[in-house]
Amino acid sequence: MQAEVRFNQLLTSNHPDKSIYHLGLKTTQPLNYQPGDWLMVFVENPPSLVDAVLAALHLTGQETLTVKRVGEVTVAEALQSHLEIRLLAPATLNKLKRSFQLSDWPDRQAMMDYADGKDLLDLLSDYPLLTGTAVCDCLTPLAPRYYSIASCKEVVGEHRVDLVYRQVGYQQRGRWRQGLVTTTLSQKNEGDWLEVALSPNRSFKLPDSEASKSSDIIMVAAGTGIAPFIGFCQHWFAASNPVKKGQAWLFFGETHQSKSFLFESQLQQWVQQGLQLRTAFSQDQAEKVYVQDRLWQERAALWPMLMKGAHLYVCGSQKKLWQGVEKTLLAMIVEQQGASFEEAEATLRFWKKAGQVQLDVY
Ligand SMILES: Cc1cc2nc3c(=O)[nH]c(=O)nc-3n(C[C@H](O)[C@H](O)[C@H](O)COP(=O)(O)OP(=O)(O)OC[C@H]3O[C@@H](n4cnc5c(N)ncnc54)[C@H](O)[C@@H]3O)c2cc1C
Repeated sequence: MQAEVRFNQLLTSNHPDKSIYHLGLKTTQPLNYQPGDWLMVFVENPPSLVDAVLAALHLTGQETLTVKRVGEVTVAEALQSHLEIRLLAPATLNKLKRSFQLSDWPDRQAMMDYADGKDLLDLLSDYPLLTGTAVCDCLTPLAPRYYSIASCKEVVGEHRVDLVYRQVGYQQRGRWRQGLVTTTLSQKNEGDWLEVALSPNRSFKLPDSEASKSSDIIMVAAGTGIAPFIGFCQHWFAASNPVKKGQAWLFFGETHQSKSFLFESQLQQWVQQGLQLRTAFSQDQAEKVYVQDRLWQERAALWPMLMKGAHLYVCGSQKKLWQGVEKTLLAMIVEQQGASFEEAEATLRFWKKAGQVQLDVY
């Protein structure tokens, strides 16, 4: 589906090292989404990377190959529109290993370590024997990237959908790397078009007031993890939603209050309507403070809510956020229930299975 850019606002304009954007889109067809769902964004590989890869493969680009579900196309078209060259997928490395008898990477972990942050050009420069269209036959399809939807259809309308994304850019091996989709997104202006598709996420949903024993919600986010909670709060505090349900808590973490307090004024408006907002800005004091520290500080208020069935949602980085939050939740269960660590793990597993704890971590 096509979507037109309504706005593409840099939220961290006074932060030199971080570019987080709020992207507003208008879709050509109604989009039947719920807060918590994802939007997939499709873009093509940049011509500069395609040209460099063609040169490294010793190809002109006019050779042809057959791409699954597409058919016969030129290599240039395949590399630009259909095959992943920005990331090195383990499946690609496995196939190349078999086809070209490479003996490196004894196991999957070694392969993942090698692939980390690299693109096809790195591989071709490390293994100059990899040339010709046979290499292209080993590449995985160019995948869309997923983004948590940051709006509520009932509030903004079924043709509008918002995202929050962080532009990826980093230096590795003396070359500047740009995230494929987020770099393309960052260059979009009002009126530009994008290819998108909805991907429902049934396991990250606000409580169903009929089916749930509690309608309290505890949202935990760091960085772009705030995205789905903008949609949750739009729904929760909508004027059309006069029945005030339970409590809504939001724990939000970033680096600096002055540079990266995303959606500050919007969140403060919801605070006026009852949102319990707790923030953790890790770099603002000598000792680092994270959202999990705030959860721990508020455990006397949170524990009774959890015992009554409050839903707890976590969105953001799997490594940086969920690992810390998980540790804190386990410590809370151990302390409050007098449980052993193993019993606490079982309780957390049960909460996750029952949907009381829901994750959107990446
Ligand atoms: C379910 C889900 C929901 C998501 N929701 C969001 C969201 O709401 N907002 C959002 O911004 N993102 C979200 N993401 C991540 C998003 O899908 C993309 O992965 C991300 O935006 C990067 O895409 P890209 O094409 O720009 O970068 P890519 O070209 O895909 O490059 C990303 C890769 O670069 C490498 N990399 C990145 N930084 C560094 C570094 N500093 N050093 C070394 N290597 C590095 C990593 O290998 C990373 O996988 C979500 C992911 C999933 C799976």
